[in-house]
Amino acid sequence: MSTPVFRFAPSPNGRLHLGHAYSALLNEKLARQTGGRLLLRIEDTDPARSKPEFVTGIIEDLAWLGIVFETPMRRQSEHMNDYRAALSKLDAMGLIYRCSCTRSQLAATNANPADPDGQPFYPQTCRAHGAKPGVPFALRLKMDEAMARLSRPLKMPGSVERTPDPSLWGDVILARKDTGTSYHLSVVVDDHLQGVTHVVRGADMAASTSIHLLLQELFGMPHPAYRHHDLIMHDARRKLSKSHGDQSLLQLRSQGVSAADIRLMLGFA
Ligand code: GLU
Repeated sequence: MSTPVFRFAPSPNGRLHLGHAYSALLNEKLARQTGGRLLLRIEDTDPARSKPEFVTGIIEDLAWLGIVFETPMRRQSEHMNDYRAALSKLDAMGLIYRCSCTRSQLAATNANPADPDGQPFYPQTCRAHGAKPGVPFALRLKMDEAMARLSRPLKMPGSVERTPDPSLWGDVILARKDTGTSYHLSVVVDDHLQGVTHVVRGADMAASTSIHLLLQELFGMPHPAYRHHDLIMHDARRKLSKSHGDQSLLQLRSQGVSAADIRLMLGFA
């Protein structure tokens, strides 16, 4: 049997908190238990949100936790050509189209239902009428045509979760106007190029996985096994988040909390 490959893939848009620590430690544990490899990937395709000091912070926090990743780590911003190549393939298959709709046009859409992220379902305006020429555009997937190409029903390997249904997302954006790629596209391309066999990440990503499975089918890539772990919660209603100012590992450390305390707290003693 081939060596299992796990990965931890944070976005450098803030310092890591306990939720990240849990995800990283779980991947470390599974890699150790299975004699697998453990990769670190920095998901920094969004130049407006990614900051070099957060990349440094991530490396520092993970080293402090005592987690050893293979080097070199992969930084998505250094691999834009890989994402462009993947988009070209979908373009050659006739499965993507340009969308020039602005944020305010999309917000004005009274779509019912919304996608799993709560965003309005795209009404396919640019698919029907073409994108406005001479203005920035995003690339969207023709979801129904993509689904029609599947030669077998989508299944989520390694999981007993509900049947994946990417159509809930509608014509999802695969390349943003400002970045030329998207989380969904980059994550699928990278997991494949890095030979990832086990994707272990938070339950907040579970709905996105359906899109990833669909893209893998379209590209003829094997599916990794997926596991979506419970999230560390701030309280009963809200998960921990950088944007809500929840305590970072750095803050905990400066209050005298040790890496051993964190492992114990999260059940990895
Ligand atoms: N970069 C994503 C995040 O920090 C995680 C992506 C993934 O694990 O697939 O939320």
